[in-house]
Amino acid sequence: MSGLAERELRVDILYTGGTFGMADSGDGLLPRSGIGDEITALVAEFAAASGIAVEVRYAELDRVIDSANADPGTARRIAARVRMHLAKSAADGVIVVHGTDTMAYVGARMAFDLIDVPVPVVLTGAQIPLGLPGSDARDNLHLALDSIAAQPGPGTFIAFGTALHPAVRASKRSSDGYDGFVTLRKPTPPQAPPALPLSRVHTGETRSPVGLFTVFPGMDSDLLDAALRIYHGGVVLECYGAGTMPMHGDTAIEAVRRATGRGTPVVVITHCDSGAVDLSLYEPGRALLAAGAIGGGDMTREAALAKLSHLAGLDLSPGELCRWMTTNVLGELSDSSQSIHEH
Ligand code: ASP
Repeated sequence: MSGLAERELRVDILYTGGTFGMADSGDGLLPRSGIGDEITALVAEFAAASGIAVEVRYAELDRVIDSANADPGTARRIAARVRMHLAKSAADGVIVVHGTDTMAYVGARMAFDLIDVPVPVVLTGAQIPLGLPGSDARDNLHLALDSIAAQPGPGTFIAFGTALHPAVRASKRSSDGYDGFVTLRKPTPPQAPPALPLSRVHTGETRSPVGLFTVFPGMDSDLLDAALRIYHGGVVLECYGAGTMPMHGDTAIEAVRRATGRGTPVVVITHCDSGAVDLSLYEPGRALLAAGAIGGGDMTREAALAKLSHLAGLDLSPGELCRWMTTNVLGELSDSSQSIHEH
């Protein structure tokens, strides 16, 4: 398993919150800080069981959170901490202990923000808090350590239950199962190394908001219009099947046309767990394309939102943003579905 058995495995662990370290305060489960000793003990157990000596540098965010409270800057702040730690150490990998609710969103965003980082970054968490009967915290931390010891190569991953998922294809699909995440669609590594412009590390400033809107039977076009105005930095539009939506005459499409006309990119994905968007197939898809929407191929909702948020912060021209959005950068978009809906 390990190419590192001969020497010490060096791992940075950053604890950000989540059920992993929560305790019931009487008001329900709440994040708890100061769990460094407990994590160090779990690492020692791993070292004893695997025979791999592990050197750990442990840190916590100043304010650990229930990841349901992740905001648009959370992933960028965690990515900045990861970079800061790696600049000071020669770690073989970084483990980020995170809440499961937004782990796939934050992990996918970190994958883009940390595109140039040469070591694996592995997010993990738990469905049941450390120390409680049936807790999966220990096993998941051990899986994360094992994954780094196995040297999967650079990239951002989610280690959970029995699997290591590429963050750009992962989604939380069980609220209580030990295998809480799935890899939706096979990752498709790009043929050429990514040439995406590198993001500077931002830690605080607000940018134009980027959001996600799901269509549904009975969707009010005014609601879509409001979402497109509020999230004027870009909207991932999660449509049915191959990229269809309720037309309501033309009012929904007109809302999309007005948004793209204002410079708001609109990226269409499917809510299906397999298959891709094909905007040439049905009338609503063609209308979306004509209104300036971008086909998001087979990207997951988490990856599409992460990629659009990342690109929206890079000051790209609309054409460049569309080109990158429809190009497979990290395995988030299969080659068969990429670039087929570029403008
Ligand atoms: N609400 C928790 C969180 O995302 C759930 C978990 O960690 O499993 O922080």
